[in-house]
Amino acid sequence: MGSIIAVISGKGGVGKTTTTANVGLGIAINNKRCVVVDFDIGQRNLDMILGLENRVVFDIVQVMDGEANVKQALIKSKFDANLFFLAASQTKDKSVLDSDKIQKLVTDLAEDFDYVILDAPAGIESGYEHTIEFADSAIIVVNPEVSSIRDADRAIGILDSKSQKVKEGKEVIKYLVINRIDPKMVQSGEMLTSEDILEILSIPLIGKVPEDRGIIDASNQGKPIILDKNSPAGQAYKRIATRICGEMVAMEDVETIQTGLMSKIKGMFK
Ligand code: ADP
Ligand code: MG
Repeated sequence: MGSIIAVISGKGGVGKTTTTANVGLGIAINNKRCVVVDFDIGQRNLDMILGLENRVVFDIVQVMDGEANVKQALIKSKFDANLFFLAASQTKDKSVLDSDKIQKLVTDLAEDFDYVILDAPAGIESGYEHTIEFADSAIIVVNPEVSSIRDADRAIGILDSKSQKVKEGKEVIKYLVINRIDPKMVQSGEMLTSEDILEILSIPLIGKVPEDRGIIDASNQGKPIILDKNSPAGQAYKRIATRICGEMVAMEDVETIQTGLMSKIKGMFK
């Protein structure tokens, strides 16, 4: 059985969908079969980031309702043959989701894929609870700001009390991603440091992603930033994906301002 990973945050707009797309593609690049599933019913934007919005015919709600089988709904990535995508419904709202149908869908996928990554909607309501319900692990995405950390803390509380694993007396594995780190703002004290965040949330860190304006362009082009070898955020996502696949990769310092000379020297050793 493959591993089911929910990408969650509590607060919206912190980078869940960006993380899902890039980590999913990174896992596929690591030669593991991976499917990314859009659980943000009614919103749908994982398809855009992956450049697959024109390929969507069937969505997860149609699969759960038996109007299409899962093979018909899976869309193959244009970038890597190991990556597949399952779209959210744009027309239905999230009240159509039901636990039994979700369990069947995600366990069917886990039989076929090494990693099943579920992109959660914003908030901690029913759509969120359905995303975490059958997860083996969760990637918690935060921005270095108080409101994001507070909402993530609430989301973790729900994860630790309502997921199936916990009901069975087991634990849901947690990975923290700190996204949109701006070294200047960390240095000036306007942004929380990683140490502050780790102390508050007390879950293991799997990666730090810097603020990178290239992400917006990448999303508009439907070409995930991980494919850009010169992008600091892309490289950060690559390291996160490799860590999820079980390899040790040193944690890069993305919080210190690199002076011209230092960044040149570092660049020589990349
Ligand atoms: P969520 O799924 O949590 O709502 P998204 O992944 O859609 O968040 O990201 C919200 C916005 O932030 C998007 O416009 C995205 O391009 C931008 N964004 C995400 N991560 C970064 C980053 N590291 N640097 C710059 N912009 C980012
Ligand atoms: Mg999203």
